Amino acid sequence: MTRRAIELLLLVALGAVLGWTQDSAGWTLGGALGGALAWSFLDGLRARRVLRWLTKADGSRAPRIGGTWGELVDRCRKLIKKLEKKAQNSDARLEDFLAAIQASPNGVVLLDASGRIEWSNLTAANHLGFEPQRDLGQYVRNLVRNPAFTAYLGGGDFGHEIQIDGPGPRPSQPTKISLQIHPYGKKRKLMITRDVTAVQLAETMRRDFVANVSHEIRTPLTVLSGFVETMQTIPLEEADRSRYLDLMSQQAQRMQTLVSDLLTLSRLEGSPSPGQGEWIDSEELLAHVMQEARGLTQAIAQTPHDVQPVPGPDLWISGAKTELLSAMSNLLSNAVRYTPGGGQIRAGWRMREDGWVEFFVTDTGPGIAAEHLPRLTERFYRVDRSRSRETGGTGLGLAIVKHVAQRHGGRIEVHSALGEGSTFVIALPSSRVRERVTG
Ligand code: ADP
Repeated sequence: MTRRAIELLLLVALGAVLGWTQDSAGWTLGGALGGALAWSFLDGLRARRVLRWLTKADGSRAPRIGGTWGELVDRCRKLIKKLEKKAQNSDARLEDFLAAIQASPNGVVLLDASGRIEWSNLTAANHLGFEPQRDLGQYVRNLVRNPAFTAYLGGGDFGHEIQIDGPGPRPSQPTKISLQIHPYGKKRKLMITRDVTAVQLAETMRRDFVANVSHEIRTPLTVLSGFVETMQTIPLEEADRSRYLDLMSQQAQRMQTLVSDLLTLSRLEGSPSPGQGEWIDSEELLAHVMQEARGLTQAIAQTPHDVQPVPGPDLWISGAKTELLSAMSNLLSNAVRYTPGGGQIRAGWRMREDGWVEFFVTDTGPGIAAEHLPRLTERFYRVDRSRSRETGGTGLGLAIVKHVAQRHGGRIEVHSALGEGSTFVIALPSSRVRERVTG
């Protein structure tokens, strides 16, 4: 028999006994009924306590009740604890899952059936220019105000991605965002965004590069084939023939230099940076490029330049010797080619206060206007196109110098102003230089 039944019987019996003491069958029956009523009142109170606790669903403060109600409370408490644990586990899993999507380099936005933002990671918010918390529940079409996006969202054809402008560092410099919608569930949508600014830039650079190379090669080729045609069709005097052959040889030389510079650039880009390499005598490097520069000025200038080394500290420079020589001689060759004959060219090594070392070339040439300086190391960028061509320039020299400097952990610096000559510097970090102790 359960405790509740015993309690009921006891209260009914107690009521009956109390009624019986009144010596009447009616009182006895009434007493028993009263006992039953008292029991149901007490039972109702307990039921209320249990119900109140269940309404609060507070597992930690369960009412202390014995018997069947107590057992019920106990079982409910265990059930609630179990459910709570399950919910905690699901919450933790959801947190992990959302943290993983937060860490994704792709933007992720979840849209409900009516196109309102249910959730978004920070990346998507940055890509599209909204606040992930503040804009929850907002219609995405109101936040991404772009005609292409509105048409895409409304069109319902999500088999392809679209590209829109995202908020950039400046209004004139928007980022390029690729965006695709994937429908799922009941009319819900998953929107994935990717920043493709760098990819687009690389693609534009690649296209420009191919166009530039084609143009650079086509010009001498056109000249060459013109001469060939002339020589094939018109009988020429020996003097003309010889002049034409000279011009053809110049064009062929120009193509050769271009191809050679292109190969140098592609080697520099495609190979790993030189490690510490060999330790090279700074004087030896300087002497080598000075000799080349003197040879060049003798060959191309009507009045040769005054090319002199500037004495500096005795140093060991560490790196790839051929690369360093190629970068240094590019700077000297530019100084000779752009400085009018008779001008002064100085080059040498010097230490900086911060321990870096620099190779510098100073000339008394025309100088370069400030607006050109940031673009000088771009491939095929020339300030004076005709001077560059006349003197056999390819427009790749400073790009090569920049690559070599960067591969050695350094950089190229240009100090110049119109009419005031130029100083080009290859600066190398302290790890690449050692004082040479003589004696
Ligand atoms: P290029 O083969 O045309 O000389 P570079 O990349 O070496 O190509 O140089 C890029 C441009 O920078 C040159 O076309 C020239 O206009 C400018 N430049 C480079 N060096 C000098 C210099 N020492 N003085 C004036 N202009 C220079």
